[in-house]
Amino acid sequence: MNVTRSTFNEVMVPNYQPADIVPVRGEGSRLWDQAGREYVDFAGGIAVTLLGHCHPKLVAALTEQAGKLWHLSNVMTNEPALRLAKKLVDATFADRVFFCNSGAEANEAAFKLARRYGNAIDPAKHEIIAFYNAFHGRTLFTVSVGGQAKYTQGFEPIPGGIRHLPFNDVAALEAAVSSNTCAIVLEPVQGEGGIMPASTAFMAAARRLADQHKALLIFDEVQTGVGRSGHLYAYQHYGVAPDVLTTAKGLGGGFPIGAMLATQAAADVLAFGTHGSTYGGNPLACAVAEAVIDTVNDPAVLAGVTHRAQLIRDGLDSIGRRYGVFAPSRGLGLLIGAPMSEAWKGRSKDIVNAGLAQGVWALVAGPDVLRLAPSLVISEADIAEGLRRLEAGIAKLVEAPKAAAA
Ligand SMILES: *Cc1c(COP(=O)(O)O)cnc(C)c1O
Repeated sequence: MNVTRSTFNEVMVPNYQPADIVPVRGEGSRLWDQAGREYVDFAGGIAVTLLGHCHPKLVAALTEQAGKLWHLSNVMTNEPALRLAKKLVDATFADRVFFCNSGAEANEAAFKLARRYGNAIDPAKHEIIAFYNAFHGRTLFTVSVGGQAKYTQGFEPIPGGIRHLPFNDVAALEAAVSSNTCAIVLEPVQGEGGIMPASTAFMAAARRLADQHKALLIFDEVQTGVGRSGHLYAYQHYGVAPDVLTTAKGLGGGFPIGAMLATQAAADVLAFGTHGSTYGGNPLACAVAEAVIDTVNDPAVLAGVTHRAQLIRDGLDSIGRRYGVFAPSRGLGLLIGAPMSEAWKGRSKDIVNAGLAQGVWALVAGPDVLRLAPSLVISEADIAEGLRRLEAGIAKLVEAPKAAAA
C-alpha cells in the first residue's frame, strides 16, 4: 500500500500537523525519508530516542524479549519489570515503582496518589499547587494541572482543587502552600514551557514548604529524566529529592513506557486495588528500558551529555550572534533552548522549517524558543553537521527578505 504525507489528512484525526516528510528509517542520529533524503536528528523524537535510532543494545533487548514473552497483565509479574524496578530503586531516592505507558499516565498516577494522600489526612487537604507554563500531559487531570489554558479550553468542566503560581517565584510559593496543600508539582526544567530551569533556591523552597505543611513534592521528570540533564535524574543536579517522581519519554528510548517512582511512605497510599494499568510493566517495554538504564547510567555517558551540550550551546550562541536570531541559550544538559531574539519573536517554527529544508530536524518549545533534545550519544561529527545545516537554513531565512527587497 502506498501512503504519503497527504494520506494523513485523509485518515487521521486533525489534532496534529506533521512535517511534510515521512521518515522511514533511522540509525544513530540520522534519519532517512521516503525520498531517500537524510536528516541529522536534533529532536530525538521530543527527548525520547536518547540513544539514537535503532541502538544495537536496544534492538537486541527488544528482539530477545520478543522471542520469549510479550504480555501477561498485572495478574502476574515478570522478570524484566522486576529487574527494571530494582535498578530504578537502586539508582534513585525511590523505594517503590509503578509502571505505566506514557508521561501523562505517570503523572495521572502521581496526582491521584497525591489526592489519596491528602484525603487520608483531611478531605480539605486536596489542593495541588502547580505552575504556569507547566506541561504534564494531555489527560483531563494532567492538562488541568498543567498551567497552559490553551490545553484545557473547550474541555470544561475540568477537575478542580488545582492552583497555579508563577514558576521560580519563592515568595508566591511561600504565600500559597498551606495545610490544605496535598502536593507541589513541578518540572525541574519546564520543557514545553520554553526550557526554563528551576532555580536551586526555588527547588529548595519547594522541598522545605512541602515538609513544613506535610505535602508531597512531585517532580515531573518526563522530559528531564534518564540522563538528559547530565545526571540520571535532574533532581540529582539540584540536590533536592522529591517524594514522587514521574519518568517516561527517554525511559524506553523510543519504546512506550512510563513510571512513577515513590518513597515508601508515598507509595503506601496506593494500596491494593486503588490504581492500575493493563499494559503497565509490559515485559517488552521493561526489557528495552532496562537496556536503556544499563547504558545511560554510566559516568562516561553522563559526562558525555554535559560535553555535548556545551558543544551545541556554543554553536547555537555563535549562530545567534552572527545572524541576530537567538538570545543566549539555556537549559540543562541536552535539553537545550535557544530563545528567539527580540527581532525574531514568534518565529521558532520558521527556523525549524528552514532547518528541515537543509536536512536537520529541531523542535520548538512554543513560538519563542527553538528546542534541541538530541541523542545523549550523538557523535561530535553529527553535532557539527547538524549545526552547519541549521546555520545554512537560518542564513537563507535571513537573506530571503533582503533579496526580495533588492
Ligand atoms: C511529554 C511530557 C509529558 C507527557 O508525556 P506523554 O508521554 O506525552 O503522555 C508530561 N510531562 C512532561 C514534562 C513532558 O515533557
